[in-house]
Amino acid sequence: MNKIAIIESIHEEGINLLKKHPNFKYEIITDVSEENLIKTLPDFDGCTLRISRLSSTVLSKCKKLKVISRHGVGYDNVDLDYIKQNNIKLMITATANATAVSEHVMYMMLNLSKSKLLYDNEVRLGNFKKNIKDIQTFELMNKEILIAGFGRIGKSLIKKCIGFDMKVKVFDPYVSNNEVKSYGGVKIDNFNNGLKTLDFLSLHVPLNSKTKNLINTNNLCTMKKNAIIINTSRGGVVNEKDLNSALDNNQIYAAGLDVFEKEPPDLNHPLIKNKKVLLTPHVSALTNECKIRMAKETVNNIIDFFENNPNPSMIVNL
Ligand code: NAD
Repeated sequence: MNKIAIIESIHEEGINLLKKHPNFKYEIITDVSEENLIKTLPDFDGCTLRISRLSSTVLSKCKKLKVISRHGVGYDNVDLDYIKQNNIKLMITATANATAVSEHVMYMMLNLSKSKLLYDNEVRLGNFKKNIKDIQTFELMNKEILIAGFGRIGKSLIKKCIGFDMKVKVFDPYVSNNEVKSYGGVKIDNFNNGLKTLDFLSLHVPLNSKTKNLINTNNLCTMKKNAIIINTSRGGVVNEKDLNSALDNNQIYAAGLDVFEKEPPDLNHPLIKNKKVLLTPHVSALTNECKIRMAKETVNNIIDFFENNPNPSMIVNL
């Protein structure tokens, strides 16, 4: 019998898969403090994981742990060096969330370019068409978007952008020209040059030492004044202080942020107060459909792992 910890809860359709399975027992861990994880996690053979942190301090106590199944695709909350050295497999829900996240990017681009929140507010205040001369709206058609990171989400997004007749450039050193071309985009090799001409930037890179502060004062000041940055990847890829200054100094037009360096961000964080920013609370993958897909895939990855039939495309450290 394998004992599985569900760290934070997941949709019941995922939990039901474990409930029905004769070879698994599970417990839900809601207290995700390091102190409690050190106390409770050593008892388990596998675990599911959302955004809580599994540090080497926690993992070094978990001698039975063989697999961590991420509910999602980013894994900067797990100590990768430790799990590689100790042969703990890390699995992700690779096929579950590209649609939800790329739709969220479209929502942010459309919302910011059509000033929808401002219009909504004016109508509710009884100012029907009174104060609209200062509200700008513009089209996506013929605008240039740079997609940074051309993996699952980047590839899902490009199809939507092409559908809106946008011109798409892609920066991802690990994909070929031909692959980008086959999706209707143009691959660029120099990221900073790409930033100079874009109208929209959408970030889909993992957070690591190479992508930390990828967007910062040095390149924000080279962007066009109408540029809009959408970050649904990870807080930390954009330097938040630098982004706020660029918005305040009218160096760029607006930003849509689903992710933050510290989550939840402090209420006095300047970006939270900045009217040029559209905010969502790290929910781009949390559509009704995607919550179910992710929960089932998270649990199926655990079951497949212990039944010796894991799908290699779901394993980060093969
Ligand atoms: P993926 O692994 O399929 O794609 C990532 C792509 O980034 C790869 O093609 C890789 O080659 C490229 N890349 C890596 N380093 C790069 C660099 N320095 N410059 C340019 N490209 C680089 O991942 P995905 O499923 O598309 O997800 C992308 C990221 O989005 C995840 O790492 C995760 O952090 C984030 N994410 C956020 C949410 C959310 O709820 N906001 C949901 C899902 C994913």
